[in-house]
Amino acid sequence: MGQYSQFTSILYLIGPMLIIVSHIGSLLVFTTGLSWGAIAWIFLLYVTRMLATTGIYHRLLTHKSYQAPKPLLWIGCIVGASAGQMGPSWWKAHHMSHHQYVESDRDPHSPYTPFLGIKGFYWSQGGWLLSSRFFPDKLPLDVESDLVLKLIDRLHFIPLVALGAVSYYIGGLEYLGAFFFSTTLLFHGVQTVNSLSHIVGDQPFITDDHSRNSGFVALLTLGEGWHNLHHAFQSSCRHGITIRDGQIVYLPDPTFDFIKMLESFKLASKLRLPSEKDLLSKAKKQNLPNLELAIASDKSKETYSNLH
Ligand SMILES: [Zn+2]
Ligand SMILES: [Zn+2]
Repeated sequence: MGQYSQFTSILYLIGPMLIIVSHIGSLLVFTTGLSWGAIAWIFLLYVTRMLATTGIYHRLLTHKSYQAPKPLLWIGCIVGASAGQMGPSWWKAHHMSHHQYVESDRDPHSPYTPFLGIKGFYWSQGGWLLSSRFFPDKLPLDVESDLVLKLIDRLHFIPLVALGAVSYYIGGLEYLGAFFFSTTLLFHGVQTVNSLSHIVGDQPFITDDHSRNSGFVALLTLGEGWHNLHHAFQSSCRHGITIRDGQIVYLPDPTFDFIKMLESFKLASKLRLPSEKDLLSKAKKQNLPNLELAIASDKSKETYSNLH
């Protein structure tokens, strides 16, 4: 992990300022109204930028759950930055801290610390970005050593501003309002992974945290709401997996479908998936049908932890 300059900190601050501008700018839709075309624009910008955040920022850049050509990573990160939720170094730095220090004082956005209850929810849903926690301690060296990614990280606000300009060019104030509205929805959609996915939902897998599988969050985030699986198997490029009565059950995961589509175009390879044995070894006992399997699970869990 590497240090960063004061100038970088100043460039970073443009991010939350633009998110606040997006919230205020969303009010434009009440003055212009929304045509079906503008509604389609909101939807298109939401889905595209959500996929870049989940499929590129999260599953590729941060967890390396599959491999992809560099140009795809760079383009995906430009689209990811156009979500207005910061650039690749900043994003990965915070997300790695979340996994490493989950639910402790050093977790940047746990709903359980430093606050509990409704305050904890507000904190994890975005309040943390308006605190000193916004600045990462250090930046990930693998991202920093790639000059293109470093440039995207420091100039993270340009794709967002450019997308706003394109929206205005296409449909004037109505489409600019639609762009702001989509950006605001996207912001809160992504943050539900940090908040609701650590509060509401089931926990089919054994983890050291409060991560949950939430169908509602999975719907908003194209599959990222299966967050208990993600904490249990961080390098899995498929999050939509659970255990019911000892059986592995696959859940809707549009981000995984997107990665499979990339694979079919030879743009993704070496997809990492946990084996059935690994999945059952981390299944909570109440999800297993009988004691025998539970004992088998304990044994394989030992093997698993010995291996890691
Ligand atoms: Zn989490
Ligand atoms: Zn993660």
